[in-house]
Amino acid sequence: MYILQAQDIYKKFNSTEVLKGISLQVEKGEVIAIIGPSGSGKSTFLRCLNRLETIDRGRIEIQGGIMVENDAGGRAVYSSEKDIARMRQKMGMVFQSFNLFPHMSVLENLMLAPLLVNKADPDQARETALALLNKVGLENNANSYPFELSGGMQQRVAIARALALNPDIMCFDEPTSALDPELTGEVLQVMKDLAMEHMTMVVVTHEIGFAREVAQRVIFMDEGLIVEEGKAEEVLLNPCQERTRNFLSKVL
Ligand code: ADP
Ligand code: MG
Repeated sequence: MYILQAQDIYKKFNSTEVLKGISLQVEKGEVIAIIGPSGSGKSTFLRCLNRLETIDRGRIEIQGGIMVENDAGGRAVYSSEKDIARMRQKMGMVFQSFNLFPHMSVLENLMLAPLLVNKADPDQARETALALLNKVGLENNANSYPFELSGGMQQRVAIARALALNPDIMCFDEPTSALDPELTGEVLQVMKDLAMEHMTMVVVTHEIGFAREVAQRVIFMDEGLIVEEGKAEEVLLNPCQERTRNFLSKVL
């Protein structure tokens, strides 16, 4: 069963074609790692999936709802804002910069969207938030403010916050790239735990060890295209394409 299907996604910024026909199907419970050089369109692709960016052409379907599809001329036509909001909620996003609300406590960061978006019961939202903080090992930091936390802790809060809306799929865009090396492990561990619980995940990452250990499928992107994809061990240990080999020799 597919949770997410993206077909033939094209995206231009001004005259620069950044995505040149990207397709991806994500199965329930699957962990997919997207790797590739800087500027290859990985972040743009993730942002398009969630309509943080519009697309020029293509089709995106999320769990039974169609977010955008082509008209007869191949142009992208979006669903209503209401339907998009509903589908977006199924997708949790975690970015390189943690983007926590600086003036809110950790607990408030986690409770905000459930209260505003889902009109959750406050006691229930608090209980869920505390359980999620426990899950990411931050049960003692509910009343801390982001500036009081290390980068690794802030990123774990960001993950918990994304989980608070109970998404069907979690997308991560280089979640450890902004962290000091000694702090990446704790964030990767939280992600591994999620994978063990069969959370569906799409992870843009330069952590090849993590991709090898946790991802079932690896996608190598270059210049707005998927150049190679397959089982993690095949793409990472025995790539077919010269461009993949070349990239891996630089990051490993
Ligand atoms: P990656 O995440 O693989 O490093 P990006 O998706 O961030 O790649 O960027 C792909 C290309 O698109 C880059 O050349 C980048 O400069 C360009 N780009 C990304 N976002 C924008 C934007 N908002 N406006 C103009 N160009 C952009
Ligand atoms: Mg990027």
